[in-house]
Amino acid sequence: MSTITTYELLDGKIASRAVQERIIREVAEVTAIRGRVPHLAAVLIGADGASRTYVDAKVKACEKVGFRSTLIERSAEITESELLDLVRTLNNDPDLDGFIVQLPLPKHIDEEKVTLAIDPRKDVDGFHPENLGRMVLGLPGYLPATPAGILVLLKHFGIKTAGKHCVVVGRSNIVGTPMSILMSRNSEPGNCTVTITHSRSKDLASITRQADILIPAIGKPEFISADMVKPGAVVVDVGIHRIEDASKKRGYRLVGDVKFDEVAPKCSWISPVPGGVGPMTITSLLLNTLKAAQI
Ligand code: NDP
Repeated sequence: MSTITTYELLDGKIASRAVQERIIREVAEVTAIRGRVPHLAAVLIGADGASRTYVDAKVKACEKVGFRSTLIERSAEITESELLDLVRTLNNDPDLDGFIVQLPLPKHIDEEKVTLAIDPRKDVDGFHPENLGRMVLGLPGYLPATPAGILVLLKHFGIKTAGKHCVVVGRSNIVGTPMSILMSRNSEPGNCTVTITHSRSKDLASITRQADILIPAIGKPEFISADMVKPGAVVVDVGIHRIEDASKKRGYRLVGDVKFDEVAPKCSWISPVPGGVGPMTITSLLLNTLKAAQI
């Protein structure tokens, strides 16, 4: 079996910059028609470090493309009914095009109840069952931000997907399951033969080794090793983890679900962590918000 030693990066920073330039142009058009800029709100509950980093990045991205953004912070002691009241207020705010409630939420709050309470027309994360159902049926709606961002990433770098075998590792409602559906749809990117795997899958490595396109969304740092990857595969690493690292100024470094250094030389294309799927998720959120403002 041949081993590939040169690979190309599915660079999310480059792809997201290109898409954001397009968004900036469209913001000008939308604003001229409606007399106000697209407006996204982000609800952050508690002071969890990673969630704050993600929300700050989303707010910053809004500013960069000329959206208005509002950060709504509440303490981790907020009750479920108080949060549901806040969601209803945001649903009814005519100045707001879309909003997100950053997950995870504190344990005493039922995430499903909160997701269900969000008006599907403002659900720019694309987590509401109505939007997920629309995605399955190929109807217009908001696609879940991370899987949609991966489609944009593949498209930007001209990755041909039709007829390829795509293996998705992980079946969460926000990443793995929608990703598998989107890759099997009759569209480009799409038209893959898809295998979805999870923690009960037997002999995972023998399945991942069949993947022309491998999308790990497992939530386990550096889980995918070189022996699990077919030479020449396209690997899109969704995982993102903070690993303690005293040599870094901030005390940690970021890694994905893939052992990048040993897997990359086997790939034709691979996304890095950081700078791969993360920026694409944010860009998808911007695209969904723009769409909400255009309706
Ligand atoms: P979840 O924890 O919700 O899901 C993980 C999935 O992986 C589950 O379906 C689980 O299976 C499966 N899994 C766990 N262990 C194994 C194993 N040993 N073999 C095969 N499958 C396994 O995670 P998410 O989908 O929310 O997120 C996945 C990763 O992606 C995380 O690192 C998260 O931080 C990251 N992420 C990154 C984003 C970005 O923008 N870059 C956005 C969203 C997430 P089972 O169902 O059987 O438990």
